[in-house]
Amino acid sequence: MSDQIKYNLTEDQMPKTWYNIQADLPVPMLPPLHPGTGQPIGPEDLAPLFPMALIMQEVTQEREIEIPDPVRDILFQWRPSTMFRARRLEKALDTPAKIYYKYEGVSPAGSHKPNTAIAQAFYNKEEGTKKLTTETGAGQWGSSISLAGAFFGLEVDVYMVKVSYNQKPYRRALMETYGGRCVASPSTETASGRAILEQDPNSTGSLGIAISEAVEMAAQNDDTKYALGSVLSHVLLHQSIVGLEAMKQMEMADDYPDVIVGCAGGGSNLAGITFPFLGKKLREGGNTRFVAVEPANCPSLTRGKYAYDFGDTAHLTPLVKMHTLGNSFVPPGIHAGGLRYHGMAPLLSHVYDQGMMEAKAYHQTECFAAAVEFARAEGIVPAPESSHAVKGAIDEALRCKAEGKSETILFNLSGHGHFDMAAYTDFFAGNLEDRDYDQGCLDASLASLPDVAAE
Ligand SMILES: *Cc1c(COP(=O)(O)O)cnc(C)c1O
Repeated sequence: MSDQIKYNLTEDQMPKTWYNIQADLPVPMLPPLHPGTGQPIGPEDLAPLFPMALIMQEVTQEREIEIPDPVRDILFQWRPSTMFRARRLEKALDTPAKIYYKYEGVSPAGSHKPNTAIAQAFYNKEEGTKKLTTETGAGQWGSSISLAGAFFGLEVDVYMVKVSYNQKPYRRALMETYGGRCVASPSTETASGRAILEQDPNSTGSLGIAISEAVEMAAQNDDTKYALGSVLSHVLLHQSIVGLEAMKQMEMADDYPDVIVGCAGGGSNLAGITFPFLGKKLREGGNTRFVAVEPANCPSLTRGKYAYDFGDTAHLTPLVKMHTLGNSFVPPGIHAGGLRYHGMAPLLSHVYDQGMMEAKAYHQTECFAAAVEFARAEGIVPAPESSHAVKGAIDEALRCKAEGKSETILFNLSGHGHFDMAAYTDFFAGNLEDRDYDQGCLDASLASLPDVAAE
């Protein structure tokens, strides 16, 4: 078995509980605040947007939360996902490091996002929700929640950032195949959308604007709730299944990671693969390092401020303490649409602020180059978001080579790039730019962060 490539778990071995890192944090994270009063918000403040079960998961300090059977039954469709040993990549890099990757592109939507979409749809259905609204950037989350809506008989309205709506017709077609309704954002359906269009009729949209539209529609209708595909603690909780499976697969490989790498947009797939290992380190000690990789032109961890900010542009969401570039920050266009969010999950931000996680930023062309190298060695074409994790893992492997160390590297390959081949075409044609973010835009955005009394 010395040349084993795939580490597969049986359905029986799929975790029965999610892992909540809040139970193991030495210092608890700070609560979300009400934008009007500056006071911590209570469950009832969030009730118009989310079902109570998810609100409770947002704040619970319990270590293990049971995965409901109907959720497990659907997850079996593609879980447990395979962990691979990247033997051909190791050879190509001529590194003494051992590289493993967990592959989440096997879900029907092509990424880790259905892991939480299925759970969110389940709890909404149980509490009588008829329709879900949400936003999507590159379309990964919109496809995932549309898929979940189809499984549970929920209507789904997706506000899709206009630039992606126009660039990614096949993602839109996938949402429609699953029964979702996809609307280009900013739209004329909402007051937030109309306000933006009045100022700028040609606005190509942003995630912050699309969130405002989706939140507004959910807040106005009793049978409609809002679903978020990243950032919130309950989303990170649902993604812990990735790391919990990887722990068992590492045991099968009789190995343990020295370093775990993931890409970070809102932080959910990174938290998913790292938090179960980080929790073990917090409880039992150990030397495993955790590395977040973000795009150099939307660098919320490496260049942002740790401050209370809104999750959206129209300031409809609660204030959360996170690493943020400011809610009015507009990143340059890059192909990793899923990494273009101004903020970062509060839980992940807290872990980073406490020194338990490292962060690195890379430009997109070096990430595409790494993705192509990976595809030629391992066969799988990474999503542009995931290419950041690939680049981070390759750099760790090359460091091991330079230092003559045989470390064990684990990274999360969060999705495949089959809907993103236009980006690869641009890369091969030399048409991808590494534009830096606009420093003036960042300064102005950070200067206009909300004043928070509680600080
Ligand atoms: C959405 C997405 C991401 C970024 O979201 P996180 O919450 O940071 O995980 C990363 N990879 C893929 C494939 C995605 O679809």
